[in-house]
Amino acid sequence: MAHAAEHAAAFEPTLVTPKPARRVAVVACMDARLDLFSILGLKPGDAHLIRNAGGVATDDVIRSLAISQRKLETREVVLVHHTNCGLLMFTEDEFRAELQADTGLKPTWAAEAFTDLDADVRNSMQRIRTSPFIPHRDQVRGFVYDVETGTLREVI
Ligand code: ZN
Repeated sequence: MAHAAEHAAAFEPTLVTPKPARRVAVVACMDARLDLFSILGLKPGDAHLIRNAGGVATDDVIRSLAISQRKLETREVVLVHHTNCGLLMFTEDEFRAELQADTGLKPTWAAEAFTDLDADVRNSMQRIRTSPFIPHRDQVRGFVYDVETGTLREVI
């Protein structure tokens, strides 16, 4: 609340449109070490940031991208996964078994754990490029951010 009050005191309503100025949507992992504004040279108003565990192109990410492109005029998608990701640290089966043991319920969703970073970036790019709900699929690029060196590498 204190931070929000400071924000409000200095606030200037300069960003009036919900349409991102750079016409780009970024799909990235929720990892706390990824400062997407700094890594990608973005400022508020520039891009949609869609984040989840792993930065995986799940159905809900496709939902956000469909709205981003169809209603808010973005044209490019940038995917950012990263080294030392939490999703590299357990297996799908292990996590399902843990949830089931703790709750007695099977989740209706997949955790989307992975073992190969580059393959997972390609898999997410492929899901976006083949989605009929996303009209602009020619500018979809994927990257791996290295949390130890701060460098970004494109996955071809
Ligand atoms: Zn991660």
